[in-house]
Amino acid sequence: ARPIEVLNSALFETKPKREQIEVSNAVVHWFRCDLRMRDNRSLYAASKKARENGVPLITMYIVSQQDFEAHLVSPARVDFILRTLRVLREDLAKLDIPLYVETLEKRKKIPGRILELVKEWGSDHLFTNAEYEVDELRRDASLVRECLEIGVAMDVLSDTCVVKPGDLVSKSGTQYSVYTPWYRAWVAYIHENPLLLDLSEAPNKNLNGARQKYLKLFESTIPNEVEHKKLSDEETERFCSMWPAGEHDAHRRLIKFIDERIGGYKAHRNNLSEQSTSSLSVHLASGTLSARTAVRMARDHNRIKRLDGGVEGILTWISEIAWRDFYKHVLAHWPYICMNKPFKLEYTNIEWEYNQDQFEAWSKGRTGYPVVDAAMRQLNSCGWMHNRGRMIAASFLAKHLLLDWRIGERYFMEHLIDGDFASNNGGWGFSASTGVDPQPYFRIFNPLLQSEKFDPEGEYIKRWVPELRGIAGKAIHDPYDRGKGAEAKKCGYPERIVDHKESRDRCLARYKEGLGRK
Ligand code: FAD
Repeated sequence: ARPIEVLNSALFETKPKREQIEVSNAVVHWFRCDLRMRDNRSLYAASKKARENGVPLITMYIVSQQDFEAHLVSPARVDFILRTLRVLREDLAKLDIPLYVETLEKRKKIPGRILELVKEWGSDHLFTNAEYEVDELRRDASLVRECLEIGVAMDVLSDTCVVKPGDLVSKSGTQYSVYTPWYRAWVAYIHENPLLLDLSEAPNKNLNGARQKYLKLFESTIPNEVEHKKLSDEETERFCSMWPAGEHDAHRRLIKFIDERIGGYKAHRNNLSEQSTSSLSVHLASGTLSARTAVRMARDHNRIKRLDGGVEGILTWISEIAWRDFYKHVLAHWPYICMNKPFKLEYTNIEWEYNQDQFEAWSKGRTGYPVVDAAMRQLNSCGWMHNRGRMIAASFLAKHLLLDWRIGERYFMEHLIDGDFASNNGGWGFSASTGVDPQPYFRIFNPLLQSEKFDPEGEYIKRWVPELRGIAGKAIHDPYDRGKGAEAKKCGYPERIVDHKESRDRCLARYKEGLGRK
């Protein structure tokens, strides 16, 4: 059975017994990728239960080096999470709710430690929001049962997606694997079930005495860094100013984006040099913003308060948030994509190159293709890359260099501050044509045309590849051919590591050959 089905049946089978468990001393919420107080389904449910039973709410977060390593979480993202925990602790403390943070090296120890803590606090109710990666689903399924054995009711709520994975099926009763019909069904489902866009209230203030009783929990250590995921002082400063942590920043950004830019999103979103997108992915990935809040607030800004008409910019932006849901649904239904396999298994036979020098050139932004290099340098400097840049850079790695897309997927995860397995895997699968609903393999981005179309004045290139700032006109897109090379050479910009036409032909032949193999 799929891990999500195992979790669902564990929740279903244990429900009657869990409902009989009475609340005694406390209710616990376990934070994971939902680091916010607003519109958090599990946090609110836990708080409600605590209030009804007149007991305090305790919250916790487990920092695990091994867990970060297993999920290839980038140092920038680890730093963002740790900074967010401080904001969260301060906000929760205003309601006398403790946020207990514990550092555990080994991820295997997490479930056992959770059970110990819950018991230590005299609690018999544990709440958390579901995560859809295979390991997390499996861990939660067994934790639900283990909890019951020691008399603890564990509830795993659906919160991270606007529509729960598994709730949308095609007419033939199967999971959609093509985005467009899935999206139509997603919109219709939300219109039929408007409560899906109801936002949860913030938790209630804890009863008097909770602060005194749990003083130690309020004072537990939030580490400044995690082994093997450390940033230099310069990086810490840079990421702190670029990506302020916590849900307050998420809301500021969301409101500003909706007020100022969402209307023009459709027309401008692909322009590499403009700040035309929301830059909210870091918040959606860490859960400092819920996808529901994002969709709800955008919809409320739409003059007809619907998802299928009105302002085009708003509808397009909502459809991008929907891609995030789509990829999580895909992950929950086809968990093998977590196991290094392409969604389209017939692409398993493509023979990839493993050229270390070319990978180095790509990752450092020294391929000789200015738009690819600008995108990679933006990633290395900001932990974030424009969506168009991600598509161009990913396509270049998989198709021009024929490097195994999984190496690129890994590099992105290890450097993105918004790294999210499902979206990253989906984006790589799309670009390499090996994923769910991908672009056809014979569609190979021409980096020169992409550059001219989406960065016509070369502003993006000049920002991220400063050595090319002196190159005038169209030559910026192609400094060796159009600029005749002398100037580019003088400023130390590398020549192309591969020729576009030759790579294109090689790619087409290699994909064809791979697909022809049994
Ligand atoms: P906006 O344009 O403002 O979009 C709003 C939100 O919608 C985003 O924050 C994001 O949550 C969601 N979204 C937008 N486009 C997509 C998409 N194509 N797929 C899934 N969700 C989307 N997104 C991540 O959040 N994490 C990743 O690790 C990630 N890796 C990617 C790798 C590749 C190769 C590609 C092509 C795309 C990847 N994306 C990833 C999707 C997309 O590039 C980013 O979500 C987007 O660039 C973030 O910027 P923004 O917040 O300004 O987006």
